This record gives sequence, structure tokens and C-alpha cells, in this order.
Amino acid sequence: MNFELTKEQEMIQKMVRDFAQSVIKPRAIEIDTNAAFPTDIFEQIGELGLMGIPFPEKFGGSDGDTISYAIAVEEIGKACGSTGLSYAANVSLGASPIFYFGTDAQKETYLKPLAEGKALGAFGLTEPNAGSDAGGTKTTAVLDNDDYIINGEKCFITNASFAETIIVTAVTGKNEQGKNIISAIIVPADSKGLAITSNYDKMGVRGSDTAEIVLNNVRVPKENLLGDPQKGFKQFLHTLDGGRISIASLGVGIAQASLDKALIYAKERSQFGKPISSFQAIQFKLADMAMEIELARNMVYKAAWLKDNDKPFSKEAAYAKLFATETAFRAANEAIQIHGGYGYMREYEVERYLRDAKLLEIGEGTSEVQRLVIARQLGCK
Ligand SMILES: Cc1cc2nc3c(=O)[nH]c(=O)nc-3n(C[C@H](O)[C@H](O)[C@H](O)COP(=O)(O)OP(=O)(O)OC[C@H]3O[C@@H](n4cnc5c(N)ncnc54)[C@H](O)[C@@H]3O)c2cc1C
Repeated sequence: MNFELTKEQEMIQKMVRDFAQSVIKPRAIEIDTNAAFPTDIFEQIGELGLMGIPFPEKFGGSDGDTISYAIAVEEIGKACGSTGLSYAANVSLGASPIFYFGTDAQKETYLKPLAEGKALGAFGLTEPNAGSDAGGTKTTAVLDNDDYIINGEKCFITNASFAETIIVTAVTGKNEQGKNIISAIIVPADSKGLAITSNYDKMGVRGSDTAEIVLNNVRVPKENLLGDPQKGFKQFLHTLDGGRISIASLGVGIAQASLDKALIYAKERSQFGKPISSFQAIQFKLADMAMEIELARNMVYKAAWLKDNDKPFSKEAAYAKLFATETAFRAANEAIQIHGGYGYMREYEVERYLRDAKLLEIGEGTSEVQRLVIARQLGCK
């Protein structure tokens, strides 16, 4: 067993860390306060080749692996949770399904611009009445000669207002058991009948775009269907498994940022004539944070390694997502506690970490859903 990063993984870590700390971190407070999607930062992320890390060069990617991608998400998330979420959603949800299930023609047309960072993508699964229970999807796609006509409504979709392509899940028919067949279809964002609004006033990840989508007789060529229509549900579960690794990485990034800030503050802040870091109560908090982060990062790397080696990784992705995101929330909460009253103030940033971390326990399958996934893997029915 080898716990060392490869030379390539170390290079990516250094490159993304330098970029995130010098370009993204100084903007994080402004991005959060103004709830403004940082388009210029995303252009730079694209130019650095980070949008294409896990995709082949042939389709505009950098031929990297999932571990390198997880490292990039951690570093960006450590600097800014909003930017980290939009980055992870673009790669794991907007582009990856086309890489996993698309034809070469779909990859050429839709994956390449996403991997090259020239376009953004989104993934519309959630609906007002179908969240954790994605099987309850009501959006429909009906064949009309050579086109699908799509009708429905999606909510909470990351990046949709800035995306060129949106992958939408829709009911395309019934299987032999009479159950809905849910397929994924690539919808160009400028399609007629597609309305995207971004009016949510969010608690955290405020600079990440979150939008509502209404599809009213949206017509797309039938060639835009992704993969095997009969296996649509399985396909998007696979997409979510991959996405969970990236949300877990984001959790590690926010947890690490919380520890870094808390440690510096604890050494600087004196009470009762001593730095608060000399009090065992504070030391124990820092020690627990460091240990949990180490464990969470190892869980992320293991799930990513399994994926890279074509081994089953659903359970490990759920372990990593559940543990790393709950670690992020705990670490951010402790970081506020260690900062005392100052931690409650925006300028110290740790309160933002807590607000951003909360989303990670909800998006791409809530903590409860992760526990269900794990329990099913244990054989519980
Ligand atoms: C900022 C943000 C960005 C998002 N981005 C995207 C995106 O890009 N694409 C997308 O498709 N979706 C996105 N989502 C949606 C997100 O994935 C859903 O909010 C999430 O899956 C939960 O669904 P819900 O909100 O409908 O909650 P519900 O499913 O209604 O759940 C409510 C509560 O009930 C619990 N619960 C539900 N079912 C069970 C059960 N069987 N057992 C135990 N507990 C259960 C849940 O865990 C939760 O605590 C985003 C959401 C947010 C807030």
C-alpha cells in the first residue's frame, strides 16, 4: 500500500493551491457578501485546465485521475466554498455524465467545451416534489418524430444560469414492470421554452449559482439522449456516486480552512495571561479537528482510488461524503467557538465556513440518504 501522492498529483496540488490562495481566497468574502458568481475566476480555472482534469485529452481534458481532481476541489474549496461547489458541480455533474455515457459525437460537441473550460454545465435532477426520492421525477420527455419534447420543472440547480448545457432527467416511458423509465437528456441552455431563474437567497455557498428551471415544450433532437435509455436511473446513481467524492473533497477543504484559521487564532489570542492554545480544552478541539480531517481525506482518496481502478466505490463514496461533510460542519463550528465572539463576525470568515459546510450535508444526497446507501450496501432492505 502506498500513501504517497504521485509526482503529477503533487504538481496539481501545488498549482491549484497557489492559484486558489492568491486569486480566489482574497475574493471569498466579497463573493459571499454580494452573492455574486465569479465568472472571471471560472475563466481562469478553465484556462489552467482544471475543468478537464479527469477527462481524456482527446475530449479537451488533461488525462488526470480522480485523486488529482479531488485534490483540486479540496484546494479550491479551502479558499472559497461557493467557488468549490460550482467547480465540483461543473466537473462531476455537468461534464462527467457525458464522459461516462455519451457517444463520441456527444463528447465532441458537449464534453469538449466543458473540459476545456470554454463553457459551463449543470445537472438538473431535483424537482419541487422529487428530492431525495429522485424516482418521483415528474418531468417528461416524449418522442415526436426525431425530437424529444420536454416538459417539467427543476429546482436548486447549480450553475444553471451560467451554463451552456444542462443535463435534465425526465421520464421517457415505462419498463416491463410498469415503472417509470428515467433518462438523462442534454439540453442546450438556449433552447426555446427553457426558462432559468436564479432568485434563491441562500444561507451559504452564496456565490454559487442556484437556479430554478422551467421546461415548457422544449424540443431537443433525440440524439441528445445520454446512454442507454433503459438504464437512466442507474446511470445517474453512478453520476451521483462520483459527485459524492467531490462534495466530500469540498468538505475536507472547508474543514482544513477551519483548522488553519483556528490554529493561527488560538496561538495569537491571549486570555488569563496565556495564549488560548495553551489551554487543554482548546488543544483537544484542535486535535480532534486535525484527526477527523486526516481521516476524511483518506476516505476521499480511497474512494477516488477505487474509482480510478474501476472497482466498486458506491459505499466508499457515501462513507467519504457523509464523514467529510459532517467533519466540515463540526470543524467550522469548533473554529467559531475557538474564535469566541470574533468568530461570530463575518470578517473572521469562520462563520462563512459553517454556512457553506451546511449545504454539503444536503446536496448530492443528504446525510440521511448516505446512511441509507451504506445500509443497503450492508444488505439491509
Ligand atoms: C445549494 C444547492 C445546490 C443544489 N444543486 C443541485 C444540482 O446541481 N442538481 C440537482 O439536481 N439538485 C441540486 N440540489 C438539490 C439537492 O440535491 C436536494 O436538495 C437534496 O437531494 C434533498 O432533496 P430535498 O431538498 O427535496 O429534501 P427532501 O428529500 O424533501 O428531504 C427532507 C428531509 O427528509 C429526509 N429524508 C428524505 N427521505 C428520507 C428517507 N427515505 N429516510 C430518511 N430521511 C429521509 C432528508 O434527508 C431531509 O433531511 C441542490 C440543493 C441546494 C440547496
